[in-house]
Amino acid sequence: MNNFEHLASNQILGGLLAATLYAATYLSFVRVLRFARNCQQPSHKEVLTTGLLAGLTIAWVTTSSTGPDLIRLLITTGFLVTIAFIIAAPAICFRPTNWAVEFFAKHSERVGLWLLGPILFICWVLPGSKLQSMLLAAMAIELVWLFRQYWAQKKKVIYPLTPSDRSILNLHAKDDLIAFRRNNGIPELVLLDNDVNWIGCSKNTPPCPFNLYVNRLGLNTAPCCRKHMRDISHYVSGCLLKIGAIHWLEGGSLLGAVRENGELLEWEDDIDISVLLNDEITWEQLSVYLVQQGEKDGYYVDLFEDAGLITVSFDAPKPWPFRWERNRLRGEIRMDIAIYRQVESHGDVVLERRSPKGIMPATENGGYGVPLGIVLPTSEINFEGGNIACPKSPDAYLRLLYGDFEQIEYTYVNPVAAKKRSLAATNK
Ligand SMILES: [Zn+2]
Repeated sequence: MNNFEHLASNQILGGLLAATLYAATYLSFVRVLRFARNCQQPSHKEVLTTGLLAGLTIAWVTTSSTGPDLIRLLITTGFLVTIAFIIAAPAICFRPTNWAVEFFAKHSERVGLWLLGPILFICWVLPGSKLQSMLLAAMAIELVWLFRQYWAQKKKVIYPLTPSDRSILNLHAKDDLIAFRRNNGIPELVLLDNDVNWIGCSKNTPPCPFNLYVNRLGLNTAPCCRKHMRDISHYVSGCLLKIGAIHWLEGGSLLGAVRENGELLEWEDDIDISVLLNDEITWEQLSVYLVQQGEKDGYYVDLFEDAGLITVSFDAPKPWPFRWERNRLRGEIRMDIAIYRQVESHGDVVLERRSPKGIMPATENGGYGVPLGIVLPTSEINFEGGNIACPKSPDAYLRLLYGDFEQIEYTYVNPVAAKKRSLAATNK
């Protein structure tokens, strides 16, 4: 008997290795989900690692000393595909998607455990420590996930809603808040004694699921999330000032600062800021500084170098191995830091970014650019209770991004909700 056969025939060791391989595949998979959450192309290296781990798990679980077992192969593969779909649903849901993904995303804390019944049945009819260990390890992970989410939900606190929040809620709910809360699954909505409040998120709880409440249902951004966005804007701006990075408020956040007199757009779903890299501030310096600072101050920082993007999220980085499980959450309170570099394009000096933004013109290098003179030297603008750097000519910048930016467009919400909202706004 060789070493492999000996290990394969050792029930306890074989089972332990199967459970470990599943846990490693799971961790690698939830790490990869950060690309879907940020609408980025996944890194080939990370996808390959996850695929390799999944392949190893399947091979180990389905191979015995007498060779591969077809039934176990089908069950293991089917199980891994199903659980991967369930786990990925909230991350896929960051973009418009179909009802099945939305359904799984909505029940994301507990849906993995729905497999427990079939798994116990399989364990009973197909004894074998490796398959059983893998399936039970998966259920143990799902149980811990459910317990942690359930526990964190208890730490939420009540936030009052503004008159505008209430009127938008009533508009979409057709004044039947109880039915609206039930039909759309909005546990945050507290309807007590003829009063309407919101059970708000914090650093110690999962965030409110933005993609559902704001982008699909067309509600205003929850009061708790608005407060955290305010915090994160001034936190990141303070960090960038400390290291002397040239930066400016960007996109919808700049639009709010200019058009809404220093306030967030009511349906804002993230904060945008841009940073100009140059000889003094390189990608390396900026990313290392923000990661270290975030670790210290309780903000999760993620890096997407190829896309020229750094994201700073309101939730604190968790210790390993729970760190990447944040990608299973439905919402996220986040600041996107877009990276710009000074280049020449069509004979002009422009500041160029890699990803498109609004209708920003394309550059000859395949990026998107804004004339340097519109941005530099940066100025300051009032934003959510404090001053933040902005382009030298904010109006010209916004025109370049959105055209007629004074015209309100409900771009983030679904078309039906957006139409309803804009009709209500014009009838005011
Ligand atoms: Zn919230």
